[in-house]
Amino acid sequence: MSDILTVVERSALMSRIRGSGNKDTELKLMAVFRLHGVTGWRRKAPVFGKPDFVFPKLKLAVFVDGCFWHGCPIHATQPKQNAEFWRTKIARNLARDRLVTRTLLARGWHVLRIWEHELTRKYERRLLARLRRAGLLV
Ligand SMILES: [Zn+2]
Repeated sequence: MSDILTVVERSALMSRIRGSGNKDTELKLMAVFRLHGVTGWRRKAPVFGKPDFVFPKLKLAVFVDGCFWHGCPIHATQPKQNAEFWRTKIARNLARDRLVTRTLLARGWHVLRIWEHELTRKYERRLLARLRRAGLLV
């Protein structure tokens, strides 16, 4: 199997994972919102950087960042196959994340980035504390 084919195949596989992964994490966060009575959020709002959730009244943009795709310092894995390809891709994602956050802050938005792993029971208290600090919980 040639390297090119492997990259294409893996890319297709990963885009499927990304598609479902993103949706899963968004649904998990939505469940947390519902469980704790958080209201006022919108999805797919036409805001720079396409936040996963927007709270217009608070001018708050919320992103749920997948640990693999956004280079989580705890869980980011480094695929051995096509290592350079993935390093570059994830570095680009990180650069884009930083640009989006900077731009939104410059436009007067608050930005909350939540790691995929924060949606697990282990990090539940920490997540709720962050939501509280962001003004989403009383
Ligand atoms: Zn993580």
